Amino acid sequence: MTVDKMDPVEVFAAGEKGRGLRVTKEMSPGDVVFAEASFAAVVFDSLSLQVCHSCFRRQSNPHRCAQCKFAHYCDRTCQRAAWDEHKQECSAIRKMGKAPNENVRLAARIMWRIHKDTGLVSDSQLTTLDLLEDHLSQMLPEDLKELKVDVQNFFQYWPKKSKPVGEDYVAHIIGVINCNGFTLSDQRGLQAVGVGLFPNLCLVNHDCWPNCTVILNHGDQTALDATFHSERRIELRALETISEGEELTVSYVDFLNVSKERQRLLKQQYYFDCKCEHCTHAVKDQLMTAVKDKSPADVVKQVTDLSLQALTKIEEARTEGNFHEVIKLCQECLEKQESVFEDTHLPLLRVLSTASEVLSFLQQFHQASGYSLRVVDGYSQLYHRNNAQLGMAIMRAGVTHWHAGLIEVAHGLICRAFAILMITHGPHHPITKDLEAMRTQTEMELRLFKQNKHVYDNMREAVLSNKPLMLAGEQVPIKATS
Ligand SMILES: [Zn+2]
Ligand SMILES: [Zn+2]
Ligand SMILES: [Zn+2]
Repeated sequence: MTVDKMDPVEVFAAGEKGRGLRVTKEMSPGDVVFAEASFAAVVFDSLSLQVCHSCFRRQSNPHRCAQCKFAHYCDRTCQRAAWDEHKQECSAIRKMGKAPNENVRLAARIMWRIHKDTGLVSDSQLTTLDLLEDHLSQMLPEDLKELKVDVQNFFQYWPKKSKPVGEDYVAHIIGVINCNGFTLSDQRGLQAVGVGLFPNLCLVNHDCWPNCTVILNHGDQTALDATFHSERRIELRALETISEGEELTVSYVDFLNVSKERQRLLKQQYYFDCKCEHCTHAVKDQLMTAVKDKSPADVVKQVTDLSLQALTKIEEARTEGNFHEVIKLCQECLEKQESVFEDTHLPLLRVLSTASEVLSFLQQFHQASGYSLRVVDGYSQLYHRNNAQLGMAIMRAGVTHWHAGLIEVAHGLICRAFAILMITHGPHHPITKDLEAMRTQTEMELRLFKQNKHVYDNMREAVLSNKPLMLAGEQVPIKATS
């Protein structure tokens, strides 16, 4: 194993957790600990017609590979850039008559790459894929059965002329994908669009209250010549000061679940019992389940059950695009919740978050802004101060207030969100750039507002009648994080 001298990290034995990564020098909030290009990545089956198979951006009218008719690209530049990764896959898809599922496609891309590069891609790769955990021995029988089907499909897909591979190795790689695959999002981080493997990232262990965050940066792919495109890569960014020798951690699950639930999710998908500080001491569990003083236990139980049922119905209505129904259900639910739960209570926060996002989408910004602020207050008490989800919620609240004409609050929120995203996403990420533009714009509007309210109101009316102020790229209301 070779370690790139540039990266301030090293592999070490992290006790029960197996191998881990630690830093060899102190890190400050927002520092990029390391960046890593994907070893291989594929677009989800369900989005293969809408997302570019090269740069993973969403496209309304993509260019189709004339040979396999499966891969789609922004344009010929993206197609050319992806040809090296796609050529063997292209002929395999043609031979089989259809593309296999995303796990099998990713496993094949990984194999082709291993054969081409003999397993180690660069000096900075800290591990080989052979050494990564596949957890096959801990899998439930039904999951193992599913994996076996993938393995069979793999052999139907794998071309005879490619180097032969053993069944056990294919099972290992698919197991690695299942527990180490990293979800890729579109260019603005709003929608999950694919899955990829980042071997160094696989070495970073979980903590529910981590000192790092992972962000995907698609780089700049605007140049006409693909050789000038910067690569798609993840960045591991420090959320706080990390001292020399300290272990690096990221969170594999959203913190907004009580400790028992996080432990269940981690066990189910990653096969370990979380013994982090926050789970061991159930930190913040009380806030996440906080009820108002003197609420009788039976009423709390009744409203809790009702909330869970309502959340299922709300999600269904949202999936169907029945947004007015979503709002009606949210308001009915909130009425019952508000007399019993505090604003940090998770099911209440989920309803508030959905209501504010959908109201924003329906351009009912005034009502949405009140809800969005309560979400921000709740999240601020629960999340790490530099959590990316918190930053995104503050950004949404800022945009909602801006659209509602509440420029003073809007500017304050946008500045707060910008400060967090500079740490979690960095200055070159498209969302941070959006935020920076919004910060400048709201600052200008705020100045105007303070000088002459009448002129400001006229200007706003003119802007609103011309075009709906939506965030670039955000045409659909994004799903509430669960
Ligand atoms: Zn593209
Ligand atoms: Zn093709
Ligand atoms: Zn934990």
